[in-house]
Amino acid sequence: MRIGLIDVDGHNYPNLALMKLSAWHKAQGDAVEWWWSDLVYYDIVYMSKVFSDTYTPDRPEPLNADRVVKGGTGYAIRTENGREMYHPELDPPLPPEVEHIYPDYSLYPALTRGTAYGFLTRGCPRGCGFCHVGPKEGRCSVKVADLSEFWRGQENIVLMDPNLLACRDKWELLGQLGDSGARIDFNQGLDIRFATDPRVVEGLASLRVKCLHFAWDNPKEDLRPYFEQFSRLYPRKDPSRKVVYVLANYNSTMEDNLFRIYALRELGHDPYVMIYDKPNAPREVRLLQRWCNNKIIFNAEPDFCKYDPRKG
Ligand code: SF4
Repeated sequence: MRIGLIDVDGHNYPNLALMKLSAWHKAQGDAVEWWWSDLVYYDIVYMSKVFSDTYTPDRPEPLNADRVVKGGTGYAIRTENGREMYHPELDPPLPPEVEHIYPDYSLYPALTRGTAYGFLTRGCPRGCGFCHVGPKEGRCSVKVADLSEFWRGQENIVLMDPNLLACRDKWELLGQLGDSGARIDFNQGLDIRFATDPRVVEGLASLRVKCLHFAWDNPKEDLRPYFEQFSRLYPRKDPSRKVVYVLANYNSTMEDNLFRIYALRELGHDPYVMIYDKPNAPREVRLLQRWCNNKIIFNAEPDFCKYDPRKG
C-alpha cells in the first residue's frame, strides 16, 4: 500500500504517533511518505494533530485517498463555554502492535538526530482543570513501556511522561534511565510533591540532566515546603538547573502570580511563566511572562512593579 502522512501541527516537533504508524506500515512492506500532492493516489492518509485549534488550525482532508484517518489530542479538544474540553471518543488509541513499536525516527531526521522520544508512563492522579491528561490517559500513572522500546543508544532521551514520579514503578524506570547513561529531558516536568523523598532526589541526582522542570500551577496550593525540601537535598544548587513552570491566566490574580514567582526565586529555583490561553491573555500577564522568562531582564530588575517594558 501507499501511505501518506500529514503532521497537522507542522514539522517543528516529532509526532510520535506518525513515527509509530510509519514504522508499522514499513514493517508490513508498505511505502510510506509525507503526503505531498493531490496528484498522487494513497491507500491511507493519516492526519495527526496534537494541539487544539487555538494553536494549530485544522487543514482540509486530502481527496486523493481511499481512507483518511484522523487522530491525536488536537482533534478531540472542543471549546465549550470558553473552556477546552477533551472528548476521548474522538481520539481512539493506536492498536497495541503500533503503540509498542520502535518509532521511525527517520521521519524527522533533523529533530531526532541523536535523540529518542517516548513515554515510559501514562496518566496522572492530579486532575488539574486545564489539563487533558486525566480524561485522556486516566487518573493513575502507570508504566506503559521499558526504555528499550524507543531508545537504542541515542545520546539524548526526551520523555513526555505526564507524571513519572507518581508511578509505582518509578524506581525501576529511574534505574533504566540511569543505566542508559544518556542525557535525560523530562519535558513535561516532574511533580515536586513526589520529589522530596531522599531516595527520589538521589535517583534524580544520579541522572545526566541539563535541568529539571517542575510546575506550580495552582496558586491555592502552597508548595513552598516541597520546593524547600527538594532544594535542600538536591546537590545542584544553581537555580537554572531547577526550573519551575508558573501557570498564569488560569484561576490566578497578578498577586498570586507574583507570590509564586518571588517565593520560588527565594527558594533557589528558576520560575518560568506559562500562560493559559495566551492569544486571549491580558497584556499585563504577557508582560509578566516577558519580565520573568528573560533572565537578563529578571535579574536586572527583580521587582515586577518597577519593570518598564519600554526600556526592554
Ligand atoms: S500534574 Fe501535570 S499532568 Fe497531572 S493533571 Fe496536572 S498539569 Fe496535568
